[in-house]
Amino acid sequence: MTSESAIALRPARELLKRTTTRCPVCREPVPGEVWREGRHPARVILRRTCPTHGPAEAVLASDARFYWLAQGDRASGGCCGGACHAAEGPATGTLGRNAGVVFAEAPATSSVRCETLSTCLALIEIVHSCNLACPTCYADSPIGAGAKVDAVPLSDLQRRIEGVIERKGRIEILQLSGGEPTLHPQFFELLNWAQAHEKIDFTLVNTNGVRLAQDPEFARQFGEAAARKGVQLYLQYDGPQAAGQRELRGADLRVLRERTLEVCGRIGLPVTLAMTVTADNLAHVGDAIAFGLAQPHVHGLTFQPRFLSGRTPTRDADAGNAPRLNTADILLAAVAQSEGRLRFEDFTPLPCGDPNCATIGYLLRLGEQVRSVSEFVDFAQLQGFLHDKINYRLEDLVQCGCETEPLGHLLKGLELQPGIAFRLMVKPFMDAWTWDQDRIDRCCTHVIRPDGRLDSFCHYYSGFAP
Ligand code: SF4
Ligand code: SF4
Ligand SMILES: [Zn+2]
Repeated sequence: MTSESAIALRPARELLKRTTTRCPVCREPVPGEVWREGRHPARVILRRTCPTHGPAEAVLASDARFYWLAQGDRASGGCCGGACHAAEGPATGTLGRNAGVVFAEAPATSSVRCETLSTCLALIEIVHSCNLACPTCYADSPIGAGAKVDAVPLSDLQRRIEGVIERKGRIEILQLSGGEPTLHPQFFELLNWAQAHEKIDFTLVNTNGVRLAQDPEFARQFGEAAARKGVQLYLQYDGPQAAGQRELRGADLRVLRERTLEVCGRIGLPVTLAMTVTADNLAHVGDAIAFGLAQPHVHGLTFQPRFLSGRTPTRDADAGNAPRLNTADILLAAVAQSEGRLRFEDFTPLPCGDPNCATIGYLLRLGEQVRSVSEFVDFAQLQGFLHDKINYRLEDLVQCGCETEPLGHLLKGLELQPGIAFRLMVKPFMDAWTWDQDRIDRCCTHVIRPDGRLDSFCHYYSGFAP
């Protein structure tokens, strides 16, 4: 008997779950279905039909091996209690409902839910202006510099941050964002205050790096802040290649980026590179990793597949037909381009929020050698959270898996050795096409809104009504 006929194959088409998604034209909430389809490789596809605008679909994973159902172990009866396979399931897409359980206490709006959930990162927009005009800006930030900078008053920022600390106890990672946050006239007053705050563990500055490259006095003051520790740059970086630079930023900024990195090295400021990945630069994610690895003050690289919010045409139905990348695309490209240095086993979903929201991996810099982390640790042994979080109960999400899971402790240990552990992260933010309300309901990456309340990053930048 051949192996094909002896092995019980998964069906070529399988409904994984139901959720609430969005119509990409009117952006209203509509029921959605997540299907696993085909073989070699199987793909994961989100489908919906808007009563007004008809059907639409988006590929959530071009290889189903990198999609995490995250609803418990089906064999143990924890997946869906049959709900996701029933022709008529219950209303889905809010906390717990797609697992067949409705939590009466699950709050209705994204903002109210975020107040209840664990906040792993709190982002605050400190200016609404920028010195670049990236065609893909998710913040839709208008151009402005000098007196034209629309800066949020320092007292307002501090009041909102303190409000979150009062409600949440502390902020583990505060991300200063914009617009371009380094344009804020009181940038260092705010940064110094955050660094000195006993209930803010770490401050991340989300920047295009232009000011650091061009303003020596600004770089000098940033060097003083870097000496106090607890601060890192989250630096926009689109890869070392020419392809895609102008499409992403409206200009080729590679020389400027190298100058920024050279300044950061000189002033002792650690950096995480943030690469927006499109079809244009996907073939260069391996080059980007090599570029980061070669610089000791670069501690990691975060890949963000381009999503359609902000200046990108969110309401254009045709936009969804443009090449759209997902986590699987990036992992496959990174491993294929690594010349054997990276393996799939070097990556794991994060144990916080929904596991489809972040995949993390490491390479180890050991002297002159770069080694695969899976030579030393077995992430698969620590992925019980993918099975154990049967129903994603609200009380499970109040405290993040980064704190409670053994994998979270291992990852923290790696993060404490930035000279050795080079972090690779894939962060697929959502837009209307890929919207899965389950992920919003488990979100741990929050924006501190102008009214002081927290909101999911994906929800805030989508522009959807609360
Ligand atoms: S993406 Fe960043 S650098 Fe580009 S315009 Fe928007 S805020 Fe400015
Ligand atoms: S911001 Fe979006 S991608 Fe990030 S944790 Fe929240 S829902 Fe997931
Ligand atoms: Zn519609």
